[in-house]
Amino acid sequence: MRRRVVVVGGGLAGSLLCNELARNHAVTLLERGPKNSFRYPNVHFVNRELAAIDTFCFGGGGTTNLWHNGLIPINPQDVTGREFSDVLVEARPFIDQAAAALFFAGESFTAEYESLAAEANTPSSVFPSFPDGIDCLVYPKKFRSLTIAREVDDVYDVEGIGFVLDDREVKAVEFSTGGQTRTIDVDLVIISAGAMGTPKILQRIIAETGAAFDRVGVGFIDHPMGFVGKVKFKKNVSETVRQLSSCDRGSYISRSAVRLKSECGRYTACVFFRPSLTMENDLSIYKYKSRLGASTGLARLKHIFSRKVLHPDIVAEVFGHLLGFNIPSRTYNILFIGEQKRGDNRVFYDGDDLNVDWRISDEEISIYRNMLEALNDILVELADQIEIKTDITEDWLWSAAHHSCTTPMGHREHDLIDKNLKLRFCDNVYVCDGSVIQEHSYANTGLAIGQLAFRLAKRIADA
Ligand SMILES: Cc1cc2nc3c(=O)[nH]c(=O)nc-3n(C[C@H](O)[C@H](O)[C@H](O)COP(=O)(O)OP(=O)(O)OC[C@H]3O[C@@H](n4cnc5c(N)ncnc54)[C@H](O)[C@@H]3O)c2cc1C
Repeated sequence: MRRRVVVVGGGLAGSLLCNELARNHAVTLLERGPKNSFRYPNVHFVNRELAAIDTFCFGGGGTTNLWHNGLIPINPQDVTGREFSDVLVEARPFIDQAAAALFFAGESFTAEYESLAAEANTPSSVFPSFPDGIDCLVYPKKFRSLTIAREVDDVYDVEGIGFVLDDREVKAVEFSTGGQTRTIDVDLVIISAGAMGTPKILQRIIAETGAAFDRVGVGFIDHPMGFVGKVKFKKNVSETVRQLSSCDRGSYISRSAVRLKSECGRYTACVFFRPSLTMENDLSIYKYKSRLGASTGLARLKHIFSRKVLHPDIVAEVFGHLLGFNIPSRTYNILFIGEQKRGDNRVFYDGDDLNVDWRISDEEISIYRNMLEALNDILVELADQIEIKTDITEDWLWSAAHHSCTTPMGHREHDLIDKNLKLRFCDNVYVCDGSVIQEHSYANTGLAIGQLAFRLAKRIADA
């Protein structure tokens, strides 16, 4: 049956859902930002900034306007919550479809990824197997921001979205654009406004139902990330490390990471090795490098006009990451990506103003320190020199821009969605975007968000 579907938010999840559902349904996209460009949000940070650069944006394609398109699955075995682990297992069959929509050009992402992992985890006489294994990130060389198919009725610069409910169903959606107010009747609503935007929309629906959910936006998690040291590898392993660090595979680049499990097994982090020239462990250079690497367009140009760009480690990074050429060196930066678990971090709104209350807890810092000490012990056999900052503080880490977990899933009183991503108190509203990712080890979230979008589209088609 052809149904009237409204998707709120045209970012990574919203674009994939719109395009897939438009094959069989009448789909309207309501996007807060402009159509062919994007703008950065105003954010008030309650405790600390997420990063020195903007970590999300509004506009057609959402944050895919900024991203690097690195693809990696979240391993369900790294997820401690049963419910979300089950969801990831159910979303596994959609990996290839999601990867293809996210510009992976090969026949099967799954086959390629499994072969990369097997290759990286095969020990040699000089290179041991790591206790927690090696994982691989796949960067398609050709990618662009996501766009909306012609079949979708896409509306941009939308404000003041409201919902008309009858009993447990949304019957109509109201909004204004270009100074005009419109109301459209709906059969189904999907909220895909991202981990930062979805809580505000959910609050509007909750207000209409009179339900008492007061933890919308609570539980926000990200990946604390930072350069935490240097290592100069021995000559006999340097070629293997170079391949792990970055390897040109034709249509994509692979970058491998050493996985690190916490002593209690609950947390999983990883480290990447990035080419460097010096053994200097300078936080200001690391911060500059991160700003340069993550910025785009004019912002990147501005960063280039800094004396720091001439630092040998920055030169190595520019050649390695931006130009795709690795300077031959046995010295590497250690890039740490840590896991956070749902806690009291939150995003919340005062009227239209977005507030982000993000911290890395003392417990998390202590877990990361132990992991780095364990890494130091592992590297001793392989390195001529190691300089790891094992007593890192919060200052060494910033957001990897993988905003997640602002829509709680489960059956506790304050949980909002079930395993089908359906609102528990509303029968025709679903949520699908970074906000529904409940745990994410160290894994970039884009591929998982894509898998969840195609899983939801299939369920809607089959219903
Ligand atoms: C520099 C950078 C690099 C990254 N690199 C990677 C990477 O290599 N791999 C990876 O997996 N991830 C990466 N990410 C993260 C990735 O981009 C995000 O995880 C992903 O885009 C999130 O998808 P989403 O659908 O949840 O949200 P978004 O893509 O942010 O989409 C949300 C959409 O909702 C709209 N919206 C918000 N509020 C409203 C509202 N009230 N009404 C209507 N519309 C609304 C927004 O305008 C936006 O279009 C990167 C991020 C950054 C910043």
